Amino acid sequence: MSAPRLVADLAALTHNARHLVALLAPRGVAVTGVTKAFLGAPALAEAMLAGGVSGLGDSRCENLVRLREAGTTAPLTLIRSPMLSQAAQVVKSATTSLNTEPVVLRALSEAASASGTVHDVLLMVELGDLREGIPAHRLLDVARHTSALPGLRLVGVGTNLACRSGVVPDQLKMDDLSSLAEQVEKAVGHRLTTISGGNSANLDWALVTSDTGRVNDLRLGEAILLGIEPLRRTPVAGLRNDAFVLRAEVIEVQTKPSLPWGVIAQGAFGVVAADPWAHAGSVNQVILALGRQDVDPDGLLLPEGLRLLGASSDHLVLDAGDVALRVGDEVAFGLDYAALLRAMTSPYVELTTTPGPRPGSG
Ligand SMILES: *Cc1c(COP(=O)(O)O)cnc(C)c1O
Repeated sequence: MSAPRLVADLAALTHNARHLVALLAPRGVAVTGVTKAFLGAPALAEAMLAGGVSGLGDSRCENLVRLREAGTTAPLTLIRSPMLSQAAQVVKSATTSLNTEPVVLRALSEAASASGTVHDVLLMVELGDLREGIPAHRLLDVARHTSALPGLRLVGVGTNLACRSGVVPDQLKMDDLSSLAEQVEKAVGHRLTTISGGNSANLDWALVTSDTGRVNDLRLGEAILLGIEPLRRTPVAGLRNDAFVLRAEVIEVQTKPSLPWGVIAQGAFGVVAADPWAHAGSVNQVILALGRQDVDPDGLLLPEGLRLLGASSDHLVLDAGDVALRVGDEVAFGLDYAALLRAMTSPYVELTTTPGPRPGSG
């Protein structure tokens, strides 16, 4: 098998999806499984569906096409506002899309009518995080405009917090969303079926509130993938944190001085911070064939006993201490969300899957 490779444990993904679905169902909230971090890889999406998510969401049309072509019959939602230039592709590849711009809504309606379908839309409302969203005072106008378009069905409203600015999706924000949903229903004269409260950052609220109001959907990626809630990046009880492991191969093992010598200027990626652990002695220095083109080194969780000394485009330099590593050995790392994204999008990292337990480090 090639290295570096990202090993996805499908059983862990299914477990996490199933656990979240079970926790949220009694609260009247369904889960849309977000597949963007793994580029819509069909096997991983299937693992989420096996856990009972009600549909799949992705920010890229390409990933939705990939899922459809792999044969999934689940509802597919485009969770980033569609590009105007992609309207035709959006109505073809997505069941539903999240929208904020009237000009895009008109284009989606025309594209849907032209292809003889009706496209479902949610309107995203701005509640303070200042990423996508219609200002609340314009929502009713846009809703009326949308429901008058023949190619579209206005099925709901949604919001997205804790992404650009870290604004917490608390009871006040969710009450605002519920109240806006009811105002939209009055304005357009029909009931909305989907009130999408947000992303994994909503779990802190959704798992403890006694009042979910009208919120009946969350779009969850990170919580299913990594088993954590993103507001404080703490583990969610009952979820597995080991669904992904990155394995890389040792290419050099040498005892080297802890301190560089010569005149010191910048490294390949700017000023190099002095290693606070550096001393006059030597270290058991290990180099892995893994670098910034493969992963975000700062987002790696190192196995016990190893310490990160530095990283360049293609090399990860570790102090292996007392750990006896040899050239050709593999080292297994956990990853945070940033590291996972980089590894998934690197052409050098192979994605493999295992239905079994987590492979040991070695
Ligand atoms: C990425 C994204 C999500 C999923 O976010 P997680 O933190 O991974 O759960 C949900 N909604 C929107 C609009 C997104 O862009």
